[in-house]
Amino acid sequence: MKHRIITIDGPAGAGKTTISNLLARQLGCVYVDTGALYRGVAYEIKQQQVDWENDECLGGFLKDLDLNFVMEKGNLVLISSKKDITSYIRTPEITMLASATSARPRVRSALLDIQRTIAQSQDAVFEGRDMGTVVFPDAQFKFFLFADLSVRAKRRFEEMAEEQKDIQKVQRDMEKRDTNDSQRKEAPLKAAIDAIKIDSSYLTIPEVVAKILKNIQKS
Ligand code: C5P
Repeated sequence: MKHRIITIDGPAGAGKTTISNLLARQLGCVYVDTGALYRGVAYEIKQQQVDWENDECLGGFLKDLDLNFVMEKGNLVLISSKKDITSYIRTPEITMLASATSARPRVRSALLDIQRTIAQSQDAVFEGRDMGTVVFPDAQFKFFLFADLSVRAKRRFEEMAEEQKDIQKVQRDMEKRDTNDSQRKEAPLKAAIDAIKIDSSYLTIPEVVAKILKNIQKS
């Protein structure tokens, strides 16, 4: 049986995580944060000091990579070789390393199988950069969420721990990530031609969720 797949793509800070999570709860299906997988790869690259710019080293590392998700009390937990690494993958350093290493074709193809395997056994909302374009080109519903850079930077700044607060740096890092992610050769960040585009700059989270649900329910 083919499962119902909903894809939500877009740049950092557009609200994808919160919105995808809420949507999955409302629809009673699984939520998959594919950015966490790229962050998991970056975390392990750093831990194991992998020379990721060298294809041979990167290939050897990816062959042994053992990443997967489990649900714990309604939260997505990222497991790497049986260890919970969820709390280590959101630092600014891992964020930027994930953006750089995600441009490597070998990294992308290693994660492609993990993502498609999850979709084989259940309905799911997949959030990322290339969900509607590359990973699930046949998804039943595709959305692309975006917002002004300054609005996205302000949102991210407000979520940050007190000791990391510097809005200029948040905005600079976000802009750099937007450029890396949208200009890379392999699976760049872009809207699928058949995605519904939503500008979340001046919408609340419930308003965006309602818009998405309306589109799903009307078809
Ligand atoms: O979504 P999140 O900000 O956690 O993603 C971290 C990084 O992982 C992104 O900046 C992007 O480089 C990469 N990513 C990707 N493709 C995805 C999801 C994330 O390249 N589907």
